[in-house]
Amino acid sequence: MRVPFNKPHFTGREAFHISEAAHIGQLAGNGHYTHLCQDFFEERYGFRKALLTTSCTDALELAALVLDIKPGDEVIMPAYTFVSTANAFALRGAKIVFADSNPLNPNLDAGSIEPLITKNTRALVVVHYGGIACDMKAVMEIAARHQLYVVEDAAQCVDAFYNDVALGSIGHLAAFSFHETKNITSGEGGMLVINDALLIERAEIAREKGTNRSAFARGDVQKYEWVGLGSSFLPNELTAAFLYGQLEHLDIIQENRLEVWRKYQRQLAPLEEKGYISLPYVPEYASHNAHLFYLLTGSQQVRDGLLTHLAGNGVHAVFHYLALHRSPYFIEKHDGRKLPNADRYEETLIRLPFYFGLTDEDAALVCEAITSFFE
Ligand SMILES: *Cc1c(COP(=O)(O)O)cnc(C)c1O
Repeated sequence: MRVPFNKPHFTGREAFHISEAAHIGQLAGNGHYTHLCQDFFEERYGFRKALLTTSCTDALELAALVLDIKPGDEVIMPAYTFVSTANAFALRGAKIVFADSNPLNPNLDAGSIEPLITKNTRALVVVHYGGIACDMKAVMEIAARHQLYVVEDAAQCVDAFYNDVALGSIGHLAAFSFHETKNITSGEGGMLVINDALLIERAEIAREKGTNRSAFARGDVQKYEWVGLGSSFLPNELTAAFLYGQLEHLDIIQENRLEVWRKYQRQLAPLEEKGYISLPYVPEYASHNAHLFYLLTGSQQVRDGLLTHLAGNGVHAVFHYLALHRSPYFIEKHDGRKLPNADRYEETLIRLPFYFGLTDEDAALVCEAITSFFE
């Protein structure tokens, strides 16, 4: 296709840091580059503790372990999200309780949370779709009132903010992704952020196969032993070195992506005014990070027709997510509540090609193809 959906961006610094890591000679994790990356995130965004992981999926599984989620526990989250958000907690035997998205954007409808809370509810998981913040004031107030943990699925949220507070710094825990489709990438990769000081030690142990190896490496204990449940969530130093090569260019990457986002916004605004499509709704409190650009059509039929039309014009746009409450794995487990907004996003949302360096010509080609479909 003339305009692909995604193109991973290389800053040109990655190979230097990988060869540096090889030269230093520690290839396993938790070395020089792991710490450089973690320090970068902690200092820049005010995260209490950042721990690199092998993926965001792993960071979410680690979060469920850290919170000691058990069979019988209930975890509330949006149905309109990626599988990993729910799968991480289902793996620990939790009952997943899906909430609806709000009518204005795919984020969780904070007003729908409280009726879902029972005496078994342990955690709320929010997903900031497209790096656009959820209503975190409302979410944190509900959590405090019911003594629930909040986990931010911040997979899409590097350099995105709620008012002037970084996403990922608000919940007790937050999970980030460095998958190749995200703003900052190491191919596969992730990070767990721990903002609740009481959870840090358990997170370090669970990330290191249930051992206190992190404390041992710091010289805090004389030997390392099996002290809890865990698994292998630690990425190697080569992955961290690649990631650091990306972080060095974070501001350049973000500036470029925001420019691409504004190009789409500007050129598609006339179609929104005419009522053909809806463009992303960004609340006053959200400063997004141009992770993706989506639009909504009036119906699934129009959406599917538009995708075919775009493909015919060399534009690779995609739809997602298939709402999890209706998924083959979950449909029998769901309590049958209707989630009309989640259904609507599943049926009418399109993601446009989006990557660093998307040219003016290609953005114009995408927007002209969309315009020609409607007019
Ligand atoms: C990308 C993504 C994930 C999974 O990230 P991986 O690093 O690929 O495991 C989870 N949740 C959301 C919302 C995502 O966008």
